[in-house]
Amino acid sequence: MPIASVNPATGETLETFEELDAAGIEQRLARAEAAFRTYRTTSFAHRAQLLRRAADLLDEDREAVARTMTEEMGKPLTAARAEAAKCAKAMRWYAENAEALLADEHPDPADVADAGAARAYVRYRPIGAVLAVMPWNFPFWQVIRFAAPALMAGNVGLLKHASNVPRTAVALEELFVRAGFPEGCFQTLLIGSRAVDGVIRDRRVAAVTLTGSEPAGRVVAAAAADEVKKAVLELGGSDPFVVLPSADLDAAVRTAVTARAQNNGQSCIAAKRFIVHADVYEPFTAAFAEAMRALKVGDPLEEATQVGPLASRQGRDDLEELVEDAKKHGARVECGGRRPEGLDAGWFYEPTVLTGITPAMRIHQEETFGPVATVYRVADLDEAVALANDTPFGLSSNVWTDDPAEQERFVRDIEAGGVFFNGMTASHPALPFGGVKRSGFGRELSGHGIKEFCNVTTVWVA
Ligand code: NDP
Repeated sequence: MPIASVNPATGETLETFEELDAAGIEQRLARAEAAFRTYRTTSFAHRAQLLRRAADLLDEDREAVARTMTEEMGKPLTAARAEAAKCAKAMRWYAENAEALLADEHPDPADVADAGAARAYVRYRPIGAVLAVMPWNFPFWQVIRFAAPALMAGNVGLLKHASNVPRTAVALEELFVRAGFPEGCFQTLLIGSRAVDGVIRDRRVAAVTLTGSEPAGRVVAAAAADEVKKAVLELGGSDPFVVLPSADLDAAVRTAVTARAQNNGQSCIAAKRFIVHADVYEPFTAAFAEAMRALKVGDPLEEATQVGPLASRQGRDDLEELVEDAKKHGARVECGGRRPEGLDAGWFYEPTVLTGITPAMRIHQEETFGPVATVYRVADLDEAVALANDTPFGLSSNVWTDDPAEQERFVRDIEAGGVFFNGMTASHPALPFGGVKRSGFGRELSGHGIKEFCNVTTVWVA
């Protein structure tokens, strides 16, 4: 795939970029190594000052940054603005909290004495250059949630962004440079996926983090394992959205629509499988389908648009194939189920609700990366839990119930990295983010995220 910015609403190529050659990659790796040598010794206060400056610049540039994202990958402009604002907030959060999160840890004095030491403590030290292989769906946020903790920990960052968002990739490097980070602290590598293996294997790269698909994750983590380097993987999800009889049905329907259609349906933590108790199945499904049908699909640069195009033709075709397969095996189309009329130039797909899903359908097990929801009817809590877990993925989950015993049942039994009650899954800098099963391993955000790429150093003094 060439590195190119193509507007998914029109199919127009906006700009193409030259891939870095071997000499260009070498130059950037050398810069990263040189930068780390001194940056690792800077104070938290200094790093925080730079990161706050980056946050201020991003706030100032919000409109332009949002437009770049929307033109490159099709998210509605309103959502792109919100994404930029969220990035600035996360940078300020890490600027504020990193020092405390990484403060020296002092074990119990009795344990220190038992270890034969007069003094012993734990220091979180940076590990070097971390490579981030990132996707296009939240092209700023996915990168910032890696970069903010990495830079605050004293690491340096190398970004291999998805090949369809090069303008955003370049804007990210420029942001950190303009904020005053020393040369080499954060660099974009304009490379295709074939060049990633060599970068992971380079001795100057300490670790890798990837957000994206399972095949990409497998290849990247295998190379990292082969080099005995740490990897964090944040892969796909097929999050359940469980609605039980005690739910506030209006709120559940409203949230279900946002949770499924946000970002044109292309979010790893989007609710994808709606598992509804028989007592509320009919009213929930009818209202949900009606609200999905009412979403305004169109040009993402228009303020009123709620659902734009999918980011690529391939993404739209893959989604369409999943829906056609479900239809062929007897699924009922409650709304959507086709490309919208009059929007043929771009890669649009109508918000869709499917019922009558069976295990024979691919959609039962595969991730739907677009505005397509499947709704299941269950008889009781046991069936809801079993169905929620009947997926290869385990990123997050949403459950609507006011009953504390039902909530506790999900906290105990759900096979996912998160469970959100009476609301939708969203990432927040203070809360860990990541999954189990085929959704990956390791965590981003919070203290857990910043510590993933630290050398947890034991200091023992006789
Ligand atoms: P990919 O996983 O292919 O892309 C994500 C990143 O990985 C990109 O930077 C890509 O680079 C890179 N990459 C891809 N293959 C390799 C490889 N073999 N070695 C090294 N790097 C690689 O996602 P797609 O864009 O193809 O989307 C496909 C599916 O992935 C979606 O339908 C969805 O299911 C899932 N996905 C999940 C995301 C999430 O947030 N968890 C985000 C995006 C996708 P390049 O662009 O150059 O290929």
